[in-house]
Amino acid sequence: MSDIFNQVDNSIYSNAMTFLRVPLVMDPIAAEADIAVLGLPFDIATSGRSGARMGPTAIRQASINLAWEGKHFPWKFNLLKKSKVIDAGDLVYSTGDAAEFTQKVEKAATQLLASGKTLVSLGGDHFVTLPLLRAHHQKFGEMALIHFDAHTDTYDNGSAYDHGTMFYHAPNEGLIDPQKSVQIGIRTVFNEANHGFNVIDAPQANDMSVEQISTLIKEKVQGMPVYVTFDIDCLDPAFAPGTGTPVCGGLSTDKILKILRTLTDINIVGMDVVEVAPAYDNSEITALAAATIALELMHLWTVQNKQV
Ligand code: MN
Ligand code: MN
Repeated sequence: MSDIFNQVDNSIYSNAMTFLRVPLVMDPIAAEADIAVLGLPFDIATSGRSGARMGPTAIRQASINLAWEGKHFPWKFNLLKKSKVIDAGDLVYSTGDAAEFTQKVEKAATQLLASGKTLVSLGGDHFVTLPLLRAHHQKFGEMALIHFDAHTDTYDNGSAYDHGTMFYHAPNEGLIDPQKSVQIGIRTVFNEANHGFNVIDAPQANDMSVEQISTLIKEKVQGMPVYVTFDIDCLDPAFAPGTGTPVCGGLSTDKILKILRTLTDINIVGMDVVEVAPAYDNSEITALAAATIALELMHLWTVQNKQV
């Protein structure tokens, strides 16, 4: 190969086509891999500002800033040497057809999981998590949810396709056990009558230590397969302005990263990072936060599933 064109790894801004510059694989079912990144460019279930359909592309672009390290601080191993990670690209669907999208996500995720891969999905608005949970439930049964968000998303008054209703439907469908699940960062009202989740709200989370939060999360989810869903609006708008429904008084990226890094001894079976809307972002702050969180989640999975 010409050495003029084979210079991709040397740049932290060029050729930002896939997450962390891992291979783009157009037949991900057949590929050998541990982790598949799946982009879900969907935002028609959004109630606030739209634009999360551009999230996967922005997160991939920002992830290139993180590709040069090899061993990513503060981990003591090289993620890509321990886990084979591929980028399955974006799931394409008939634009505007929420029903088709929902079926397609569930089908794609079911097939990827059946082929032995673990999914790190990039939203898209938070609705994408509902079909993802349906697919994961087929393989893993009832799960515990670790849910980072400013909102509980347990409202029961939306349509069938609404990014505020997934965690009303998911327990009713038997996908997750709310009593073994924890919502972190909540700072909006919700109906406590139909809400069985454990909550560490944002004021509490900002006052508690990382260790206290971590202990509580692990106590609740222990013994269950765990799905981690990260709505980027869990972070304060200072750390994640580029999202559809920002709420003041959230967590810092520093605290979130410290919390995540303690979750090494639970059984994470699926992960997503959602609600990045780059049109409202500044200097890629939000996309970089999302890329960093996705990368941390991959490290957690690798610690749990490989010799590191
Ligand atoms: Mn939210
Ligand atoms: Mn949400």
